Amino acid sequence: MTGLFAFTSFLGFAQKYEFASFADYPTPAGDLTEMTYSPGQTDFQLWAPTAEKVELRLYKAGMGGKATKTVGMKRASDGTWHATVKGNLDGQFYTFNVRKDGKWLGECPGINAHAVGVNGHRGAIIDLDTTDPAGWANDKAPRRNDIVIYEMHHRDFSIADCSGIEQKGKFVALTERGTRTPGGSATGIDHLRDLGVTHVHILPSYDYFTVDETRPDVPQYNWGYDPLNYNVPEGSYSTNAADPKARIREFKQMVQALHQNGMKLVLDVVYNHTMDIEGSNFHRTVPGYFFRQRSDGSWANGSGCGNETASDHEMMRRYMVESVKYWMTEYHVDGFRFDLMGIHDIETMNLIRQEAQKLNPDVLIYGEGWAAEAPQLPNDELAMKANVYRMPGIAAFSDDIRDALRGPFSDDHKTAFLGGLPGNEESLKFGIAGAIAHPQIDMTRVNYSKEPWTAQPHQMISYVSCHDDMCLTDRLRASVPNLSETDLIRLDLLAQTAVFTSQGIPFIQAGEEVLRDKKGVHNSYNSPDSINAIDWTRKDAHPEVFDYYRGLIQLRNEHPAFRMLDADLVRQHLEFLPAPDCVVAFRLKDHAAGDQWQDIIVVLNGNNATAETFIPGGHYEIVAQDARIDLNGLGSLTGNVVNVAPRSATILYSK
Ligand code: CA
Repeated sequence: MTGLFAFTSFLGFAQKYEFASFADYPTPAGDLTEMTYSPGQTDFQLWAPTAEKVELRLYKAGMGGKATKTVGMKRASDGTWHATVKGNLDGQFYTFNVRKDGKWLGECPGINAHAVGVNGHRGAIIDLDTTDPAGWANDKAPRRNDIVIYEMHHRDFSIADCSGIEQKGKFVALTERGTRTPGGSATGIDHLRDLGVTHVHILPSYDYFTVDETRPDVPQYNWGYDPLNYNVPEGSYSTNAADPKARIREFKQMVQALHQNGMKLVLDVVYNHTMDIEGSNFHRTVPGYFFRQRSDGSWANGSGCGNETASDHEMMRRYMVESVKYWMTEYHVDGFRFDLMGIHDIETMNLIRQEAQKLNPDVLIYGEGWAAEAPQLPNDELAMKANVYRMPGIAAFSDDIRDALRGPFSDDHKTAFLGGLPGNEESLKFGIAGAIAHPQIDMTRVNYSKEPWTAQPHQMISYVSCHDDMCLTDRLRASVPNLSETDLIRLDLLAQTAVFTSQGIPFIQAGEEVLRDKKGVHNSYNSPDSINAIDWTRKDAHPEVFDYYRGLIQLRNEHPAFRMLDADLVRQHLEFLPAPDCVVAFRLKDHAAGDQWQDIIVVLNGNNATAETFIPGGHYEIVAQDARIDLNGLGSLTGNVVNVAPRSATILYSK
């Protein structure tokens, strides 16, 4: 062991372990598994190098009742503590209690429980193999041409009566086939299949704090950005939170159903902060180690939620890598969205990507390239948007294209391109190019980025709205005066045409394809169902909106020109055309990326008036025009002028 501080004294009965720095903490060579079950015995391990004593307690139930057994754990030189309990403990529960500086820190399930009791206070002893649904060994993710991300919350998606889904607000809602609205429109997984999205990104679905799992009949809502147990599914999304196996089995059933229906699953992971510090499993195990501090010793708060974790500390880094790999191997998760990725360091993110790609070369990794407050690490070490070019295979959300379209984050009532405001064209072009360096983009006129931040276009997530802030329809209503329902729809479709014709990876929020609103609520993280539930009857009322979104997805899927994988190809084939104010026109030329279409022309018109745009002369087929899209054709055009209807996009191609 290196770095054991000379001060190793006896204090009462317990030996005290202190180290000169976090880097000197002894670390184990193996993984961080804390409970290993077998029918004959269960082995426990906890990394707690500064503990003076560690006790293991066994319980009959997930909460309540007295411990049936208390076992003193033994310290190894690598900072881990061990205990083995003989007999078949299947169905029992456990906690660890760490003593430091003469004080017991409080019971917790450790930092790495793989199963827990209700509300996540105790670890559960189970045989994970018994949680596999039938056919799990043969479960395989589908192969897809494109990536189209659909961001959803379990409760939003299925809780409304009109969803026709039986298991409302549950993981297994996504396993129900044949669900329909009263008007006969498909909902649930059938809806997603029809839409054509490739990746379903679920909001935090690890065990989080705020929803009381013992009261499933009381409507409760939270997005879940308050992590408790990172490596266990959330209990309130299972049909029985008191049964530790139910949430695990049902999560797997959800993944299996998505895979069988041609989709993949992305998990929203929030390693950047915990619900709180003092009560967190991290702090009750190795106080101080997992969180960053400011130079004055106070807790750093890069998350804006009261703390910020320390991915730059070896064991936090290893914890994150191991957690990602665990979700991939045990649950067959296909991708990860990192909340406030800008709090993590570049080295950790690159390591996660490398290790994840060893398990699945197609793994999808992206995140928010920002933080709420400046984290306690130098900027050039952080996984911020500006540093994405140094993280190959990792993408970040583009606030550049988002705000160029809808208006700034800081004011819901301000508009931009969609409201006919000139001056956002360059930012939109930057987003269409996938945030790469492109000779026709003047970076001095881009809203937030003064330099390109991706090395490859697929390192940019293209979007106009997500669960944060107002959803698209609410934002349009709030920011564009005197908007009719017809024009609201036109602008909605125009916005997504920009998103889907970008070389970045397109991303939509669930329900946008049926004109979802949240009644103008800006931050609905704990709003009731009346705000957050998707009203699926909108699909009955506006089938044309769904058809347009589906058309955009089909366009990308069938045409590699919209998703060139290489920045040089984009620079070679993407050419912006001269256009009037609040119009962006571009050409994907010469069978870009082997596309069957020779030249594709896209014109986005944010003006509330017809825009006349000059294009290279020729004969073109029209596939999108005047708020309609149809790959079978909407007519043809010969010449060098295209008149684009107000608040809409035109897409043409030549053979
Ligand atoms: Ca929970």
